[in-house]
Amino acid sequence: MKILYSLLIALFCILPQCKSSTAEQDRDILFQTSTINALLEGVFEGNVTYKELKQHGDFGLGTFNNLNGEMIALNNNFYQIKADGKVYPVTDSQITPFAVVTFFDQDSSIPVKGNLNYDELKQHIDKHIPTENIFYAIKIEGSFKYVKARSVPQQKKPYPEIMEIIKVQPIFEFEEIKGTMVGFRLPTYMNGINVPGYHLHFITEDKTAGGHVLDCNLKDVTIEIDYTTRSYLNLPEVKGFYSANLTKKEKVDINKVEK
Ligand SMILES: [Zn+2]
Repeated sequence: MKILYSLLIALFCILPQCKSSTAEQDRDILFQTSTINALLEGVFEGNVTYKELKQHGDFGLGTFNNLNGEMIALNNNFYQIKADGKVYPVTDSQITPFAVVTFFDQDSSIPVKGNLNYDELKQHIDKHIPTENIFYAIKIEGSFKYVKARSVPQQKKPYPEIMEIIKVQPIFEFEEIKGTMVGFRLPTYMNGINVPGYHLHFITEDKTAGGHVLDCNLKDVTIEIDYTTRSYLNLPEVKGFYSANLTKKEKVDINKVEK
């Protein structure tokens, strides 16, 4: 009886659907380290290495310790776009104070025509999603008439206020450019934890430039969406996070920083 039971378990676990459903579930998680409010409060040091982050996703965005540029992850390649506008490969030993990743598995695509600007693009996607209440990973790939992106310069302690940093953020403008936007649309209730609404990073097709998207105008792109209903929040075990005041009433205006 015992042998039969073990045999049944063994048989069950080698069935392909058993294996793939577990794998699919593990891939369908929005993983993030730290919170957006902690980043806005100047918690620019975390303890999650990129080696660890890569275990949780092949697609996403974030930044680096000391706020050293914008991160974009696409097809399991992780890139660092520094304030000089150049793209550097990310090494496993680099550390992130804030990042959001998932394994990108397309659930639907959204047809798009015309030269939509960033606001029109957001409204267009909003019209095609089944609910505002779950997470979406979004991949927009193809030709863009225009992309306006920024990076952030590396900071030294004592860290300045984020509003001071973005006053001097380098801005990069691209015209008639091929590339990919990678990011997320998150529900309004995520406010404080993550960026509510849209947050996209861009990288050119030749992987030489990009940044955090501030504006765009589409030309000929595909929009792929990955519906995600589970999340994993990892909080940094570091002094800066432990001592940050995350209960302030007057919050930094996220629209000024991220949008
Ligand atoms: Zn960003």
